[in-house]
Amino acid sequence: MSPRYGAGIWHFATYVDRYATDGYGQPRSVIEAIDLAGRVRDLSVVDINYPFFGGEFTNAQIKTALDRNKLGVIGITPEIYTREFAKGAFTNPDPGVRQRAHELITEAADVVRFFKADYVKLWPGQDGWDYPFQVDHGVLWKNSIDGVGRLASENPDLKFVIEYKPREPRVHMSFDSLTRTLLGIEKIGLPNVGILLDFGHALFGGESAADSAQMAIDYGRLFGMDVNDNFRSWDDDLVAGSLHPIELFEFFHVLRKNKWDGVWQLDQFPFREDSVETANHAIDFLKAVDRGLDALDVKALKAAQDKHDAITALRLAQKALFSQF
Ligand code: FE
Ligand code: FE
Repeated sequence: MSPRYGAGIWHFATYVDRYATDGYGQPRSVIEAIDLAGRVRDLSVVDINYPFFGGEFTNAQIKTALDRNKLGVIGITPEIYTREFAKGAFTNPDPGVRQRAHELITEAADVVRFFKADYVKLWPGQDGWDYPFQVDHGVLWKNSIDGVGRLASENPDLKFVIEYKPREPRVHMSFDSLTRTLLGIEKIGLPNVGILLDFGHALFGGESAADSAQMAIDYGRLFGMDVNDNFRSWDDDLVAGSLHPIELFEFFHVLRKNKWDGVWQLDQFPFREDSVETANHAIDFLKAVDRGLDALDVKALKAAQDKHDAITALRLAQKALFSQF
């Protein structure tokens, strides 16, 4: 069965950074972004930010736009990382702001129900610290996990996924790595909290995404994933396959080996590229990865891995992947 492909709807937005404060393009509404996503070949689902960007839209209006583009919703990402949450959402020093984050995510949970999406995506990018001595680390970590735990227990019918990343925008994020996030989730101890493993965040954090995926799967917590690529020193969100094709191939090998059959989702930021062309290019690459997995001699690979025979294993992997082009 061929994989289903998805994308964060922000892939089709335009961006602002601290230099191009006038933005890299005219602002787009979420409806315009959905219409662009609809032009990508083979895209089935999108992850949508909440509140919806670029205007006041009802769920029904969003649904109309999705339907005309034959798109479903995989997840809803509440914006718990905007100005109001500059000092954190779950870990904000002001309990009123923590409560406001809770309310916003609770609203997002209802949007997940409306679209019958898979999960509420939590990306606590402002939860963390910037300086030594700035925070009480015990309090910060407790607030991180209590905030997620409260949501998960109040909404047992829904899944919550935490997308970890080492840093940005916060200089050090509280949910910074696979192991720390997993430790927090195990402490919460509820079945409906899992991990969204972003391949690029794993690279950025010095992890092997394949190893991180295996560990998340072994703990029953791999609920979603994103792909992209980066130079490992920042979350560049470049097109998948552009820099680390073999590591990406190993990541997908681990997913297939474990019969993990979720959506292959793009989280890319085409600042200067055409967003539709960038998504098509990534999906073409991912299709080659999928064919490469079909071509991979898993028996020979297993024999090589049983001996930790790196060169034979690499030869098999490289032959399987690079013969698909
Ligand atoms: Fe991501
Ligand atoms: Fe990212």
